[in-house]
Amino acid sequence: MTEVYDKDKIVNILNGYNIKVTPNRLKVAEVILNSKKHPSIDEIHTTLTRNGKNISFTSVYNIIKMFQSAGIVKEIKSKDRSRYDANTKPHSHFICKKCGKVIDIEDDLKLEFPKYVNSMKVDSIEINYFGVCNECLE
Ligand SMILES: [Zn+2]
Ligand SMILES: [Zn+2]
Repeated sequence: MTEVYDKDKIVNILNGYNIKVTPNRLKVAEVILNSKKHPSIDEIHTTLTRNGKNISFTSVYNIIKMFQSAGIVKEIKSKDRSRYDANTKPHSHFICKKCGKVIDIEDDLKLEFPKYVNSMKVDSIEINYFGVCNECLE
């Protein structure tokens, strides 16, 4: 579960998606793949610059959008901003309407869902639960 993506693994992943490996793409991939917190683009940018990496906001934005169209990350709309999730396996989210935090929910997969809706076959479902997280309740 707590798989760490080091440089070799990330290079493999990018190669698998036919994405040319560049130093900036490696930096951004390292942050998003190793985060469970669904960071927004500005959070990814802040993490990188705080760690002394020299990269512009626009570069982070462009790389995340590229990863998104390739299918490496998924966009989650939360409150006032988009957040990004590198866990593309089906799972649900709890979205706090106060702080905008997005929390993975892994134990609801026993949820039953219809095999067909409007006579179209259903492969998977994705649920967003909305509410107030425990930290915001305190
Ligand atoms: Zn909250
Ligand atoms: Zn998630």
